[in-house]
Amino acid sequence: MNKITTDRNKLEFECSLVYYTEGLEIAAKLKQVILFGKHKNCVGLAHNQIGGDKSVFIAKIDNKWRTFINPFLINPFIIGGNDTNYSIEDNKFEHEESCMSFPKKSNKVIRYKNIRLKHQIKARSDNNGSMWKEETFTGFNACVIQHEIDHLNGIHIFNKNEDNNNE
Ligand SMILES: [Zn+2]
Repeated sequence: MNKITTDRNKLEFECSLVYYTEGLEIAAKLKQVILFGKHKNCVGLAHNQIGGDKSVFIAKIDNKWRTFINPFLINPFIIGGNDTNYSIEDNKFEHEESCMSFPKKSNKVIRYKNIRLKHQIKARSDNNGSMWKEETFTGFNACVIQHEIDHLNGIHIFNKNEDNNNE
């Protein structure tokens, strides 16, 4: 059984794209880690948090666990919709977060209030509709998603603020 790693070398590692079916298997493994580890307060887990290297995370969205395979954020500039006065600065705020990989610690990071996420929902070989799904998330859900996307890119709450290119 895999455990949640606290090894920064594993955490600061960029995950790569995965075949959809393998992604589903990884998500099942992530759920097992949370279940058997009795991590009651956990709201998300990325593959490199258990020493993996694939672009998969699970997250508790509106109290329900969901799987995200090969996810990426869509340019936050478009989130303001038709309101031309809405700037990217309006979409940012400071959020205090903790992380399963850094027990009993927390840090403040800059997040977007609203995000749009694209992720894979079926195998490439499945010709029945698009293999990609686009969704909007707001508030706490959006923070959870951004936290996990960061993990997949080797970024966590203690190295995020060093990386100003992303702000
Ligand atoms: Zn984390």
